[in-house]
Amino acid sequence: MNRHIAIYPGSFDPFTNGHMDIVERGLEIFDTVIIAVAANSSKNSLFSVTERVDLLTKLTANNPRVKVETFSGLLVDYVVEKKARVILRGLRAVTDFEFEFQLAQMNHTVCQQVETLFMMTSPNFAYLSSSIVKEVGRLGGDISNFVPPLIKEQLLQKFSQINED
Ligand code: ADP
Repeated sequence: MNRHIAIYPGSFDPFTNGHMDIVERGLEIFDTVIIAVAANSSKNSLFSVTERVDLLTKLTANNPRVKVETFSGLLVDYVVEKKARVILRGLRAVTDFEFEFQLAQMNHTVCQQVETLFMMTSPNFAYLSSSIVKEVGRLGGDISNFVPPLIKEQLLQKFSQINED
């Protein structure tokens, strides 16, 4: 069992500066953070799982302590397969709490060696979510402060494709 790996699971559709903040702070505590893109999310996604993994791989290529993968099926099964114990999640507001609480308890019940650690959002990212970035971007707003430049570029490309259709 590897105590030095944290699994950071999510949809990351798209990955925002708020997500990056959690990854960077996670790296202060863990040797390796694996960003795990959920393949079986019921959410309607803008980017395919392959696109998200490709983008995140490029975005984190300069840091060998960050790995990007995808998983399907039960998260705890994936965590155990990686020989990890820790799931890293971010908390923004009370609205995140209920769902996260339920998820963490369910995961711990299914697999007791797996623990979920929460990091409170940095105040400057508290309002930031993938859905709000998509909404602002789709309506032509400036998203430069919300996502890394590579993600911004790809988002703008997506929106121009959608507008052409
Ligand atoms: P999911 O669909 O699993 O909620 P998300 O990509 O929306 O996936 O989020 C992944 C994780 O990152 C969640 O724990 C979420 O609470 C956290 N997160 C998202 N945005 C922020 C933010 N601005 N600050 C801190 N944590 C965040």
